[in-house]
Amino acid sequence: MTVTLDKNVEAFVSTPHQLFINGQWTDAASGKTFETPDPATGETLARVAEGDAEDINRAVRAARSAFDDGPWSKMTPSERGRIIWRIGDLIAEHNDELAQLESLDNGKPFAVAKVADVPLSADMFWYMAGWATKIEGNTLSISVPYMPGANWHSYTLREPVGVVGQIIPWNFPLLMAAWKMAPALAAGCTVVLKPAEQTPLSALRLAELMAEAGVPDGVVNVVPGFAEPGAALAAHPHVDKVAFTGSTEVGKLIVHAAAGNLKKVSLELGGKSPNIVFADADDSAVAGAANAIFFNHGQCCVAGSRLFVEQDRFDEVVHGVADIAKSIKVGPGLDPGTEMGPLVSQEQYERVTGYLEHGKSEGATALAGGGTHGDRGYFVQPTVLTNTHGNMKVVREEIFGPVVVAQPFSDLDEIAAQANDTPYGLGAGIWTKDISKAHALAKKLRAGSIYVNCYNVFDAALPFGGYKESGWGREMGHEVLHNYTEVKAVTTLL
Ligand code: NAD
Repeated sequence: MTVTLDKNVEAFVSTPHQLFINGQWTDAASGKTFETPDPATGETLARVAEGDAEDINRAVRAARSAFDDGPWSKMTPSERGRIIWRIGDLIAEHNDELAQLESLDNGKPFAVAKVADVPLSADMFWYMAGWATKIEGNTLSISVPYMPGANWHSYTLREPVGVVGQIIPWNFPLLMAAWKMAPALAAGCTVVLKPAEQTPLSALRLAELMAEAGVPDGVVNVVPGFAEPGAALAAHPHVDKVAFTGSTEVGKLIVHAAAGNLKKVSLELGGKSPNIVFADADDSAVAGAANAIFFNHGQCCVAGSRLFVEQDRFDEVVHGVADIAKSIKVGPGLDPGTEMGPLVSQEQYERVTGYLEHGKSEGATALAGGGTHGDRGYFVQPTVLTNTHGNMKVVREEIFGPVVVAQPFSDLDEIAAQANDTPYGLGAGIWTKDISKAHALAKKLRAGSIYVNCYNVFDAALPFGGYKESGWGREMGHEVLHNYTEVKAVTTLL
């Protein structure tokens, strides 16, 4: 049984999709198109125009003119804020439709997209709509010691950085577009968005809704395609800033590409986050540890993929997580009973199963899962690996799938060092009833998001991003406005 498709979704997936440039739907300059498959079956879901560097040139020209001459920069913050708020309203009004589209294109359960991805996306626009009228500079008392007796009037202006290139991955297609575009628009920037090749559909539908909300032509441009348009955007001399979410490997390429005009760069990259359960933790830690890794099929940059359990409760907690893993109903995202859908693509399926084989060959034991599910589509079983140690590839590298590696710990003083022993620093979980211990450990962990007695909590007001090789800058909260603004100091000798 599957959810009945919304009529808009049926029409949308069966229509060939074009690029959205300067408020118009247009073919790629090359005329090329590509297929996006349904991960539950591997069959073609939709056909989409394939953007390249020439299309990025066209989109950047449109965004440049909308920023330099166009209505966006001339609108009042209040007018901009109301349009951004309206985008949130339209997303909420189309909740089921967008959740179905997301489920079809990405594979995630419709039921999850409906309560998480889409409402969080709407809320991101609502939250950022409020910031449009609250971007402020300061007045400054300056001294200038080599000009004694002079009188000064000094202040700062916080101004939009300009044309922003945004490149996003496939794990939360709509939400990543919202995390990127909402703050850029609130700051007064114009945007060229390159969605992931695996999941371009919801960003294209969002472009339609944004036009309906009153976003003027050229302010938002969406150019689907593979690496080429992404690389062209990162290198483009008329782009003032690039914001990237994806792998650490590609993040490093973005930094090099951006060096040509030294455009500003913000990066949300990979993770291998520790989730630490102390012996005094509440029993809810078991379900919490399962959610930390299995939410979104483990395709979550902040996934709690390294589970550390204090020795006394190791067997109980790890077997509890394994029991949950075995009970998770795996199936197509549109099946109402599905708790975990397929991975997003053949490539990701091969990557995750490759890690499972490697882990087993290095001596890890699969307490739950360890293999694939079904005979079509990209399904992998939720997996708990034990008998793992810190030098194994499955412990060191980001798998980006429903695979957790579990290790016991006994030395309280050393757990922070063990948890921090990774090039990444995105998230960490702590489960204990001793709140002093939790805060003391939170201080020692080198990660951007610390969850105490909870995990995977996202909110538009909570800054999100990574230490070390997990990235530069923060998404969300008022912190994100720094990504999209420049500070100008104005000094007058009175
Ligand atoms: P990826 O880096 O391969 O691709 C991400 C995006 O970059 C896609 O749109 C892709 O087309 C584009 N791209 C690929 N090569 C490019 C290049 N040379 N220049 C410019 N753009 C290029 O990542 P992925 O495998 O699709 O996504 C999974 C990764 O993303 C994981 O490592 C995960 O941790 C990370 N991620 C991080 C966050 C976060 O907020 N920190 C969120 C989601 C995903």
